[in-house]
Amino acid sequence: MADEPGLIPGIYIYCDRWCERCAFTSRCLQFRIETEEMESSNALLNFDALNLKFWQEMGDALVRAMRLIREIAAREGLNPDDLLKETVFSEPPESLQRDAREHPCANAALLYAGMVNEWFAAVDELPDMEESLLTHPPPILDEPIQVIRHYQYFIYPKIVRAIEGRLRNKETSGTEMEDDVCGTAKVALIAIDRTLAAWSVLYPEYPSKEDSTLAILLHLDRLRRSVEVVFPAARAFIRPGFDG
Ligand code: SF4
Repeated sequence: MADEPGLIPGIYIYCDRWCERCAFTSRCLQFRIETEEMESSNALLNFDALNLKFWQEMGDALVRAMRLIREIAAREGLNPDDLLKETVFSEPPESLQRDAREHPCANAALLYAGMVNEWFAAVDELPDMEESLLTHPPPILDEPIQVIRHYQYFIYPKIVRAIEGRLRNKETSGTEMEDDVCGTAKVALIAIDRTLAAWSVLYPEYPSKEDSTLAILLHLDRLRRSVEVVFPAARAFIRPGFDG
């Protein structure tokens, strides 16, 4: 099956494991194996096209999210250019780098996962909420909430794995793992991008939670820039199938 024309070798190595939303199920060996009963290839192609549209719309939402962050910064009296230059989560001294989980980027990703739980719990406490937002989202928020939930616990392990690879390379003075480091960091960055886009959709919907939503947006933006600083080659990494 692996030799079948049309399959993209290794596409599943740097994907986000969200097969229900993947635009390449028809070309992924991992998906074929996991689903066992292969759908007709036409059905998969239609499914992929729908998902491609979903992610194109999310890409547009990310552009809007970035604009929103700059607008908010201006409104709060911050110079948007200063905001972009704001200190990123910096790396600790070498001696502290025994464990990737101690890295500030990893800590920030873990903190983010907790912020999400707190935000949803606080929204459920609002007087006009009759049902939990997570289990009964309004249709307009269903997809952004799916995005937030899918990546909530995805970003942290990807960042830890990328940092572990980087630390291992430093210890051995090797570079053979550097591609994997960059590929893993890129997947984490994409997850952060998409999550930022999703939060920007939620932002105007809950004015009474504006401060906490804004805190999440700024935290994610800072984490995004931090990961880009720690892994400057990550954005340019070409993932099989997804990036060309
Ligand atoms: S490439 Fe797509 S279909 Fe394959 S494992 Fe990843 S998310 Fe699932």
